[in-house]
Amino acid sequence: MILTQCAVCATELGLSLGKKCGRCSTRYCGPECQVQHWKEGGHDKLCKKIKKAGGAEQYNANNKYAEAVAVAAEACAEDTKGQTCFICTQALHWKTKEGLVRGCSCRGTAGFAHVSCLVEQAKILVAEAEENNLGPKAWNERWVRWEKCSLCEQKYHGVVCCALGWACWKMYLGRPETDFARKFAMTYLGNGLAAVNNYEDALTVGEAELAMEQRLGAPEASILIGMGNLAQTYNMLGREEDSLRMMRDIYFGSLKLYGEDGDTILAANNYAMALTSLRRCKEAKELLRKTTPVARQVLGENDQLMLHLRTIYATASYYDPDATLGDLRESVKTLEDTARIARRVMGGAHPFLESIERDLGKSRTVLSAHEAGKSVVFEPEES
Ligand SMILES: [Zn+2]
Ligand SMILES: [Zn+2]
Ligand SMILES: [Zn+2]
Ligand SMILES: [Zn+2]
Repeated sequence: MILTQCAVCATELGLSLGKKCGRCSTRYCGPECQVQHWKEGGHDKLCKKIKKAGGAEQYNANNKYAEAVAVAAEACAEDTKGQTCFICTQALHWKTKEGLVRGCSCRGTAGFAHVSCLVEQAKILVAEAEENNLGPKAWNERWVRWEKCSLCEQKYHGVVCCALGWACWKMYLGRPETDFARKFAMTYLGNGLAAVNNYEDALTVGEAELAMEQRLGAPEASILIGMGNLAQTYNMLGREEDSLRMMRDIYFGSLKLYGEDGDTILAANNYAMALTSLRRCKEAKELLRKTTPVARQVLGENDQLMLHLRTIYATASYYDPDATLGDLRESVKTLEDTARIARRVMGGAHPFLESIERDLGKSRTVLSAHEAGKSVVFEPEES
């Protein structure tokens, strides 16, 4: 992760608080931790080395990058056996001696490369765009080489995505906070950490990025995207209440920025889903009663998001302990209807259709129990 904590006691410092080592910029919560780090933490020996590397953040990123490359090459060793790099044409990298990786959608003998060669390629392309003032469009087209393979044009995943995330952050972290490359590098690092299921560190990066954007007065749309990433990371960490809080803020932020349609419909969908999964069914239904008519007009009856909104409403109904017989009948009817539309629009094997059919099964169970005067309680993992 990036360095947002005291190097000794791990107190949260964000991106700017705390006391810095005058030489190498390692940060501490205060003089006590700094003194202790020098005397007992080995900082007396490392300080010069860190300064030489370009400061604490750079030193950390360099080390993390080297680790991530080693992990990636190791994980890809079986797949890349006997192959050569499509960029430098060698099996072993001439300078770093690192092994090959492949983490995109290339098949057969295509797409094997050294992380270092991928990094060099992206770095040079972006530098050319900047040095020759090629403009934002060219810059964006070249920038994607940090996250997409130049052969198959698909995103890197897993360990390769993580190594490139560290590479990108290591490359641009020294730039001013307002620099686009630095901001995007932070995003890619967060994505890379999430790609190897390191959600704890992805969260640290995401929170730091959001705090930075808010501090710099970034456009609201960009802040909402950052919040969306965080909400997802909270979810992956099982922090459902935090995720819900974020989803709510995104919904109201979108409402203010875009009005009732556009991205607000998706934000409402996500917020309603979070409410339902925490069994706050009445709030979810109230929200959906507002959003669904707008979605019906803007998106139409056959749109997947529209179907999804209706499905959540039906789900919130059968999870609601106070649902009436009428509510439950409506829930079953809605799910029968959305299943029928989904089958027609998306085909019979679509995972979305499967999930609607699971919901339909559950809503029928609840309805017949209710008709027999019994109640059904679903375990959380069944939801
Ligand atoms: Zn401390
Ligand atoms: Zn130092
Ligand atoms: Zn190579
Ligand atoms: Zn590829």
